Amino acid sequence: MYVRAPYSYCSLSCALCTLNAAFKGQMPLFPAFSFQISMARRQRLLVIGLLIFISVQWTLCVSEDELHADYWNNKGKQALHSALNIQPNIRQAKNLILFLGDGMGVTTVTAARILKGQMAGHSGEETSLVMDTFPYLALSKTYNVDQQMPDSAGTATAYLCGVKANYGTLGVTAATPRENCSASYGNEVKSILYRAKKAGKSVGIVTTTRVQHASPAASYAHSADRDWYSDSDLTPEAVANGCRDIAHQLITNVEINVILGGGRQYMYGRETKDPEYPDERGDRVDGRNLIAEWIKNKTRVKYVWNKAQLDAVNPLNTDFLMGLFEPKDCRYEIDRDRTTDPSLTEMVEKAVKILQKNPKGFFLFVEGGRIDHGHHAGRAKRALTETVEFDRAIGRAAEMTSELDTMTVVTADHSHVFAFGGHSYRGNPVMGISRSIAKDKKRFTTAVYGNGPGYQISENGSRPDVNGTISSHNDYRQQATVPLSSETHGIEDVAIFAKGPMSHLFHGVQEQSYIPHAMAFAACLEPYENCELPDNARAICPSLLLLMMGLLFLFLS
Ligand SMILES: [Zn+2]
Repeated sequence: MYVRAPYSYCSLSCALCTLNAAFKGQMPLFPAFSFQISMARRQRLLVIGLLIFISVQWTLCVSEDELHADYWNNKGKQALHSALNIQPNIRQAKNLILFLGDGMGVTTVTAARILKGQMAGHSGEETSLVMDTFPYLALSKTYNVDQQMPDSAGTATAYLCGVKANYGTLGVTAATPRENCSASYGNEVKSILYRAKKAGKSVGIVTTTRVQHASPAASYAHSADRDWYSDSDLTPEAVANGCRDIAHQLITNVEINVILGGGRQYMYGRETKDPEYPDERGDRVDGRNLIAEWIKNKTRVKYVWNKAQLDAVNPLNTDFLMGLFEPKDCRYEIDRDRTTDPSLTEMVEKAVKILQKNPKGFFLFVEGGRIDHGHHAGRAKRALTETVEFDRAIGRAAEMTSELDTMTVVTADHSHVFAFGGHSYRGNPVMGISRSIAKDKKRFTTAVYGNGPGYQISENGSRPDVNGTISSHNDYRQQATVPLSSETHGIEDVAIFAKGPMSHLFHGVQEQSYIPHAMAFAACLEPYENCELPDNARAICPSLLLLMMGLLFLFLS
């Protein structure tokens, strides 16, 4: 617990280093001020700055408790006690929730954790995300069949359908090259959402992107190209061979009970005006209204497109809900209009209330989809505030369900080339700058990118200086090493956090495609209906192995 502490080593060293650096002219105390001021005024500013610094450090930096061995020993004992009490829950899971942070690598998780703490007025490092409290953890190998650096479509096929796929393809095996419609026939793979529906459960998808986006789409669609959102996106080859767009598949392939996110424009024709932005129109060329088609022949069904309408939905008399809150993706959490657009947490809350009425349970896929977009734009603040909201949604779902019958899995599809490091005192703002100065005598942020639009090296080889005010702006782009218009995904493993029935199955380093196998097994879904490994999935049996070795011996002798 954080208490007002006697001035600690950390605060003192930070303050002294700041003072020293400021007198040397290396680091202004107030980034908005330059050093083109008188010596007397500078000294007065330094004193005032130091006082502010000390008072801030007083509450933000190191707790008195942390100076004593007892604090860490007790913390260690408590964690050990919790670990010793962990008993694998081997019941059958009634409900399954899969939370997917798009692009949420481990670095993003750490930075979001600290940001969450700092948003609550703490130092941050000691804070726990909700996902941090899950008892079981594994690493996921994210590569696509044809690419070392994966994308969201190939990875979604892995973590939703249990089969790795090619970059840019979804709901089909790797026998389907990207954009090759004809090769997709016969190579469709079924998702865990489909299998849960088949077992009588209610199913839902919730995302901050368009609902036809790669991640949610792999739960219901089979497409040789992730970009075939509406019929106007189909290639001539796809049209000639009868492939259907993803929006069409959303309403025809499997009856999804709850569909919440963005993506209105792919659902109706170009003659139809958007209800929120009258200057914008639908994207379809076939003239169909897929929303009306979805509603037709359903009872206890609602369609909404703004927060007030969503708030008014009574879950008790609603079994089908489609909410499309933007023409394309939902807005970033930091840009969200709180009166017109629901948060991810609010969408999850409504979804769970509707789905959990089913006595046979439910499957829910929840995507924090714009973490990825913030990173691609090289704007870490956007990616990280999305991650904090994503974690809040995980917390809300945890409050509404029981760990005894609900398996919850949190993971990412892939990482990003986002790095978080540099000399920083305890409680240093996540969007702040390093305490040390770089070799070019300029400051640098502790959050940086390996590549992307944040590349700022000028013609003469120099880079711009930065201070905490500049770097904490919502649209600030952290500096990147290599100039690219869009920052890229990372290749390293991502984490899988799990809790609830059979969550101990998540251990070690796994192929990403293992995830829906473990989840299906936990809920006894196809192909594990009997909660047993089917015969064809067992390891090669010992007698067969002995026979083969015997034959090999005879052949060689
Ligand atoms: Zn991406």
